[in-house]
Amino acid sequence: MGRVALVTGGSRGIGRAVAERLGAAGHAVAVNYSRRADAADEVVRSIRSAGGSAIPVGADVSEVEAVAAMFETVGSELGQVEILINNAGITRDGLLLRMGEEDWDRVLAVNLKSAYMCSKAALRSMIRGRWGRIVSIGSVSGLSGNPGQANYAASKAGLIGFSKSLAKEVGSRGITVNVVAPGFIATEMTEGLGEVAVNAASESTSVGRLGTPGEVASAVEYLAADDASYITGQVLVVDGGLAL
Ligand code: NDP
Repeated sequence: MGRVALVTGGSRGIGRAVAERLGAAGHAVAVNYSRRADAADEVVRSIRSAGGSAIPVGADVSEVEAVAAMFETVGSELGQVEILINNAGITRDGLLLRMGEEDWDRVLAVNLKSAYMCSKAALRSMIRGRWGRIVSIGSVSGLSGNPGQANYAASKAGLIGFSKSLAKEVGSRGITVNVVAPGFIATEMTEGLGEVAVNAASESTSVGRLGTPGEVASAVEYLAADDASYITGQVLVVDGGLAL
């Protein structure tokens, strides 16, 4: 059954793969971006040319007014959001002693506060419809920690506590809330790592390579499907055996 899906940060990387997968599964997809409208337009074109339905929607998901306007737009153009993918995320890495307050606040706002605002905005109609899927993209950093990523790991660990609590609040309404926690995935976020770090990251996995955005999208698609109705409050790790 075709639903209405919103993918935050759906214009690039993992979000793009998720948006395309949900579009191919027959859902109408709102592709959110904050700065690169051209990238979002490209994803929309790709979904439409595969026979799906999609719109671009610009909004900085750390801004409360922007989030409200985004839900307004999606509601009037596609309908109320039934599948919410909290994917938008950034890094501002640095050792804690050198981490400025601005880097702490920005990462927490984009990665965690956004999930609070978007989930809250989506929830009322999900409850009314007695069906909903909320999947947030966490990270193995939020499970194991990572030097230089105290802000990022805190935001990703926060998504887990947030999702488990919300899962308990809304489970009886047919709404599931889960986290997908990727390891090293080849996107623009990991592009800056350099060859040595990429080789080290690959060797630290069991499968011997970085993951692809599509491999994360498969897990998200499953958790967003009707079939996953009895899975909630969980963290699905997609890391090629990194954490083993
Ligand atoms: P990319 O940097 O490739 O893409 C980030 C996406 O988020 C872009 O679409 C970007 O849009 C959007 N975005 C950034 N800031 C905002 C904002 N304030 N409001 C709305 N959209 C925003 O990231 P990835 O695809 O690599 O990562 C996606 C998610 O997966 C993130 O949450 C990340 O933390 C997580 N993750 C990634 C891993 C990896 O190895 N790549 C590993 C573990 C987790 P725009 O360009 O318009 O700003």
